[in-house]
Amino acid sequence: MQALVEAAHAKYAPHATGDVATYIPELSKANPDHFGICTVTSDGRVFEMGDCDVPFTIQSISKPFTFGMAIDELGRDAVLAHVGVEPSGDAFNAIELQNGTNLPFNPMVNAGAITVSALLHKAHGPAALDALLERFSALAGRRLSIDQAVYESERRTGHRNRAIAHLLLNFGVVHEQAEAALDLYFQQCSILVTCRDLAMMAATLSNMGLHPVTGEMVLSVNSIRDVLSVMFTCGMYDYSGQWAFRVGVPAKSGVSGGVMAVVNRQMGIATYSPRLDRFGNSVRGVETCADLASQLGLHAFDCLNIGSGFLDTIL
Ligand code: GLN
Repeated sequence: MQALVEAAHAKYAPHATGDVATYIPELSKANPDHFGICTVTSDGRVFEMGDCDVPFTIQSISKPFTFGMAIDELGRDAVLAHVGVEPSGDAFNAIELQNGTNLPFNPMVNAGAITVSALLHKAHGPAALDALLERFSALAGRRLSIDQAVYESERRTGHRNRAIAHLLLNFGVVHEQAEAALDLYFQQCSILVTCRDLAMMAATLSNMGLHPVTGEMVLSVNSIRDVLSVMFTCGMYDYSGQWAFRVGVPAKSGVSGGVMAVVNRQMGIATYSPRLDRFGNSVRGVETCADLASQLGLHAFDCLNIGSGFLDTIL
């Protein structure tokens, strides 16, 4: 596995296509050459190469975790009364709701994620950020914090997300403190992680919510099922269908350049490389995950994938 990770790093390091996100001004300061790959097995073995200790903001990769947290705390029905589970086929920041229901398409696009943040804000009030940081820290297995500069940069310039929050308010999808909910969303996107943290978080999802190193049960088995389902169908924005076809595992990307993929009951994979394609997915991240999935037979429907015993036979 270590050799595979190193070979993938060497193969994709020279790929310099794509652009660093600039619409959040602070993100434009990222080093486009940074590139890390980390895999963590469901029993906690770590294989990594490259820039796996460089901190970056989690951005949209926070969305599956807040969704899982909301389901754990409020129940599936209460959450699904506010957000759908249908791929939108549109950009992550589209200003749109589902025809007929006037609910966000799913929790992986901004409208759905802001709705989930509003549910958590309503449940916790001003303590919401602490509750969220605590859960994310437990998922990573170490104390996480916020990048204040990125948070303030997005809060100052996030007019599109502000428009979405007010559209949600107009249709009564979020409670009246829409600005405070939006603020929580900006803060959750600004949580600092490393590529290794993301791989640990992915491994925790792969291990049915039980952190492979700390042994803490961080998310319930029921919420994991729901989280992985929406990651599988909606996690890579309007590339989600192609990703499911090509790579075949639940995944989530973020505009700062992270990609997190979950191989059910087997392992978590994370990559960090800030150059993005037109969908907002990391170019090297997509190629690396596709390559590893193909070599290891990780696709959910690959004939090589014989379930949780498979990795044990090669590791
Ligand atoms: N904070 C970012 C936004 O709302 C997250 C988007 C992303 O990572 N795709 O625009």
